[in-house]
Amino acid sequence: MKSIIIKNGNLVLPDRVLDNSDILIESGKIKSIGKDLVGDYTIDAKGQYVLPGFVDVHVHGGGGADFMDATCEAFETAVRAHLSHGTTTLVPTAMSATEQDLTDFLNCFNEFKNTSKYADITPGVHLEGPYFSGATAKSGGAQPRGVLRLPDFDEIGRLLKASNGSILRWDAAPELEGSDRFAALMNELGIVPAMAHSNADSFEAQKGIDSGFKHVTHFYNAVTSYHKVGQKPRAGLVEAVYLNPGVTVELICDGRHIPRDIVRLALMIKGADKVSAITDGMRIAGTDMQSGKLGSLKNGTDVIVDDDVAKLVDMSSFAGSIATMDRCLRVLCGDYGIDIVTAAKMLSTTPAKHINADNIGAVKVGLNADLVIADNDYKIIKVLKNGAEI
Ligand SMILES: [Zn+2]
Repeated sequence: MKSIIIKNGNLVLPDRVLDNSDILIESGKIKSIGKDLVGDYTIDAKGQYVLPGFVDVHVHGGGGADFMDATCEAFETAVRAHLSHGTTTLVPTAMSATEQDLTDFLNCFNEFKNTSKYADITPGVHLEGPYFSGATAKSGGAQPRGVLRLPDFDEIGRLLKASNGSILRWDAAPELEGSDRFAALMNELGIVPAMAHSNADSFEAQKGIDSGFKHVTHFYNAVTSYHKVGQKPRAGLVEAVYLNPGVTVELICDGRHIPRDIVRLALMIKGADKVSAITDGMRIAGTDMQSGKLGSLKNGTDVIVDDDVAKLVDMSSFAGSIATMDRCLRVLCGDYGIDIVTAAKMLSTTPAKHINADNIGAVKVGLNADLVIADNDYKIIKVLKNGAEI
């Protein structure tokens, strides 16, 4: 196999930007980093940024397709849409749905893994629900209300069987009856249990953390922070999570869901190695569609695009983002003033750690050559997966 040199890049390393340097790629891996390296084939980065390929651990679709459409074509369409925007690893996310729809999603993923040439981009799946609090519009967000239910361990057993070991993370609301057992079971199986779409106050959230919940899904969205019940002040799930340094979080960095100072606060308290950037992108991501279905074509909810974000048709709630990870890079570095080394951690290194992938997520010798070249406006110029140009 021929070696490749990326020449003259501003390399975004885990701890600094290394100016005007080269990367030697052999057999799909980063072989060395330095000056004046030589190889068989040269890509000139022209003094632009070379970043680790993005790792999106929470994404529902893109390019006009949703993973809940549950066809190989839909999976391939969505994966290709995000890949062209620099996402070299993504975790297909299932919406809350009926057991049948979740089973179809899992079966489809396994078929995709066995047949698609894009299979190595998707290491496993994420189930966002369906064991969520559906009591209020606030915590429900755009999750389909009719299918939210309490943890059902017979159903969980059947879905685990259908998954064939592909579930990397599963979300539930910690205040529900059975959620403590759910968290313990997920830990036993090596699946990350995450808190999401929850009405839990800080005490209930702490109980959840004590029973094994390790992560928070789209932190700040569809969970509680400081609030009052009657005249009594309560701390929320957000505060409980800040009081537990080990719990990781993810933020939808589309520039709409989370304002700059929340990103800064989360980074200040948790550090970039605990905060992943996600798109939570739905089927409209990576297209110029102005409307579409959130969830499957068959059972999904109609949404429209307004102000660069998906909203329910009655505009009562956001309904997922339409971002790709390169937009998150532009939001973080361009709009929010986060330095690019920190942004690369949030977009690649930290989410790679979240899914236990130790061969990706940084520009580092020995790791897979999943790389993105971006210009000074953070626009994607080139994407490499395992050293191959996309
Ligand atoms: Zn989601």
